[in-house]
Amino acid sequence: MPMDVTSVLNQLNSAQEQAVTSDKKHLLVLAGAGSGKTRVLVHRIAWKIQVDNVSPYGILAVTFTNKAAREMRERIDNLLGMSLRGMWVGTFHGLAHRLLKAHWRDAKLPENFQILDSDDQLRLVKRVMRAMDLDEQRWPPKQAQWWINSQKDEGLRAAHIQESGDPFMATMLRIYRQYEQLCEQLGVIDFAELLLRVLELWRNNPDVLGHYQQRFGQILVDEFQDTNAVQYAWLRLLAGTSSDVTAVGDDDQSIYGWRGAKVENILSFERDFADTETIKLEQNYRSTSNILKAANAVIAKNADRLGKNLWTESGEGEPIALYAAFNEHDEARYIADRLADWIANGNRRDDSAILYRSNAQSRVLEAALLQAEIPYRIYGGQRFYERLEIKNALCYLRMMLNCHDDVAFERVVNTPPRGIGDRTVEQIRELSRSNGCSLWEASATMVNEKRLTARAANAVSGFMVLINEMSGQLDELPLAEQAENAIQHSGLVDMHRREKGERGQARVENLEELVNACKNFEPEDSDAPVLPQFLDQVALDAGDRQADEDQDAVQLMTLHSAKGLEFPLVFLAGMEENLFPHKMSIDEPGRLEEERRLAYVGITRAMQKLTMTFAETRSTYGTESFNSVSRFIRDIPKEVVEEVRLHNTVTRPTTYADARISDEGSETGFQLGQQVRHNVYGDGIILNFEGNGPRARVHVAFDEVGTKILILASANLVAI
Ligand code: ATP
Ligand code: MG
Repeated sequence: MPMDVTSVLNQLNSAQEQAVTSDKKHLLVLAGAGSGKTRVLVHRIAWKIQVDNVSPYGILAVTFTNKAAREMRERIDNLLGMSLRGMWVGTFHGLAHRLLKAHWRDAKLPENFQILDSDDQLRLVKRVMRAMDLDEQRWPPKQAQWWINSQKDEGLRAAHIQESGDPFMATMLRIYRQYEQLCEQLGVIDFAELLLRVLELWRNNPDVLGHYQQRFGQILVDEFQDTNAVQYAWLRLLAGTSSDVTAVGDDDQSIYGWRGAKVENILSFERDFADTETIKLEQNYRSTSNILKAANAVIAKNADRLGKNLWTESGEGEPIALYAAFNEHDEARYIADRLADWIANGNRRDDSAILYRSNAQSRVLEAALLQAEIPYRIYGGQRFYERLEIKNALCYLRMMLNCHDDVAFERVVNTPPRGIGDRTVEQIRELSRSNGCSLWEASATMVNEKRLTARAANAVSGFMVLINEMSGQLDELPLAEQAENAIQHSGLVDMHRREKGERGQARVENLEELVNACKNFEPEDSDAPVLPQFLDQVALDAGDRQADEDQDAVQLMTLHSAKGLEFPLVFLAGMEENLFPHKMSIDEPGRLEEERRLAYVGITRAMQKLTMTFAETRSTYGTESFNSVSRFIRDIPKEVVEEVRLHNTVTRPTTYADARISDEGSETGFQLGQQVRHNVYGDGIILNFEGNGPRARVHVAFDEVGTKILILASANLVAI
């Protein structure tokens, strides 16, 4: 291999070079976003190979997402001008899987063990709970799943946990025990188990551990701030006394506390890994100084920081654009318009990203991109209509339309759980097979002919009554109300609301978003029934309209998935209080700090141009909310922001279904086009009314501040 030291040290500043070439045993790089941490890690690998003659076979590099791992490998290959086989680059979970495949026997697993995704895991937890006769209303299975995973993330097996006499904990522990047994019996493992199993594999098999300790003389970890207790224990065990460890991270970007990540691992590192050199990097190479100023100002508000100063030599660049949208449709359309400009100017779609706090926000954005015919890809998440909770809700709507829809029947007959066990469903299936009838008809027969136990018969007829009641109202109710009934009366919302943690919350939000979708749905044929048209449209949307793997496409992702990535053009959508920071986090200082770090991560993804948008009104759950602009925006210095306002123009979004110019407002005492005065915003003209009664709203184009939407009852407008 040619020793081309210059290429490895090319384009490194002196602190980076010191890090790359450090000959201390361990290295900790603690530095802000875009300062070259990942670059240092990649160059250090190249340096080790080219200068220290380390074999690629002896290198283990770990990062957080599969996308980041792929990019890391590409960067190393590019730097060395060749592809290195034998080197392990991956995520903790990916590496764990590989290890368990190789050592299944020592890990006490069957050779063909299966990995459970989160939904599979939940199904097993439920099975266990049913066998234990636990009431799912009282003991939500999601909560048990969450509890089990948090124990595993801490490295705790059921057998390790001391009972404290707390009845909640005692029950969780019983479930955990049974769940462990069932997984063992079925030969399946969940995500948290992957990591824990490897830890135990090494602890219990000194030979295996010794082999890997010897093999991996170099261990490098990116995004170190988001490692959890088990991952940290892994590192210590694997490194043993001989391996060199490089860890790079940023305490300001720790955003997985809610999943057990421990930013304290950064502090423990110097203590646990003796002979560590710690290096700080402070020059940012990614972003313009305007973007960096915004990021620094936002994160400065956090109290709990190790403290770093980021600066850049690059110019101011463009100001950060801030767009105040009427509502979420206007927001999405604005973003799609700017993207169309970007593409028309010869830029790659790949170089742009739309980031958002909650998965549910993607639906309206997707619709605007589809309409503008801009290919997009949702990264690290499913498209809206493919999400589990949405599929469930749609199956209720399908059942309401046609109760003989067997696929939908299977999916929701016992979701949420209503005491219809696998055995009952199997009996129903059998009868439907032998009678050649639908599952629905089979159920009716089973109930009528008393072929089920009283309990099962009750549960089945309960389900049938529910569907009958909802479908009985099909012709009377608007689509949105039907959807609302489907998610409420079915118990879907309650089921997810009882779940602990972010995921349950996200699912409730997605369900609410479905009601919005129904509210805004415009049927092609206004004379035909609307529900079938909606379901057809959804089936089409869920088809293959997402861009292919290698097609140049705009990237959509949550802020959490954007970690470590960078894009020339970035949109941060939904910059509103209650959305971001999320309403669940606002009242808890610790969680608010994590939200703020997330804002810092978002802002620092942008290289050239950052646009933030917020909506003055946003429909959540079919009702409009008026959120004020996010505190994170208010923290950004005014001089780096340029507010985009559509002054006095009546450009009305086509999808803005509520904003029909109509005779609404006729009882308000005002008229369209009338001049009015507001004591804060000054003088303006009435553009539109929405609704009547106490919630009636008025759109006023003010001379000074642009268009505002106000609640008439509280705006105290005076005619002039
Ligand atoms: P994050 O905290 O977001 O993960 P990071 O600290 O890992 O960021 P990198 O992704 O390594 O930062 O670097 C950010 C950008 O700056 C990359 O495009 C990288 O190539 C570039 N860069 C880093 N250091 C230099 C340098 N010395 N000269 C030129 N470009 C650099
Ligand atoms: Mg990085």
